[in-house]
Amino acid sequence: MPAAFPDFRLGKVLATSFTGTLSERHGDAVERIPTPQRLVDWLAVNGLAVDSCTAAQLELARELRESIHAAATAAALGDTLPAAAVHVINERSAQGRAAAVLTPEGERRWGLGPEARVEDALGVIAADAIDIVAGERDGRLALCASPTCRAAFFDTSRSRTRRWCDMNTCGNREKKARFHGRRKEPGAAG
Ligand SMILES: [Zn+2]
Repeated sequence: MPAAFPDFRLGKVLATSFTGTLSERHGDAVERIPTPQRLVDWLAVNGLAVDSCTAAQLELARELRESIHAAATAAALGDTLPAAAVHVINERSAQGRAAAVLTPEGERRWGLGPEARVEDALGVIAADAIDIVAGERDGRLALCASPTCRAAFFDTSRSRTRRWCDMNTCGNREKKARFHGRRKEPGAAG
């Protein structure tokens, strides 16, 4: 019953979309890949369809996710990267066997090989994380301004002034909170 699970939040950057499968890390955390099948679903909508996923592979995925989150957070803050997180990201990157495929339409797809293992998909995500943490792509790592979220996101806006990981959730909530805060203020001009 997919409807019983929290929706995915789809971003344009693979690595930070992946870390976004756990949201509200500093509030009431929402796990968006609670079962192996939900990881399969998430990978499919992100162009990384795999044949199957075991509980152990879901654990690998979550370990990678939290490692990317830790490394991206450190990078956003200008801190030293946590060694354990770097190790996990490198392991997953090394063990994936995906190949970039150029389509006749000039788009890039990922070919995960005949077995299409979860490990191959995680390799693609780990490599994407390495790109953005290492500053190989045009953009800036930043932390969401929402105090219950603090997700690391990749800001590709021209001014590099994006404040929220996701405008539809964190951004919207903050705007509403400010609006209500203003209205409750005694004597505020309305
Ligand atoms: Zn956020």
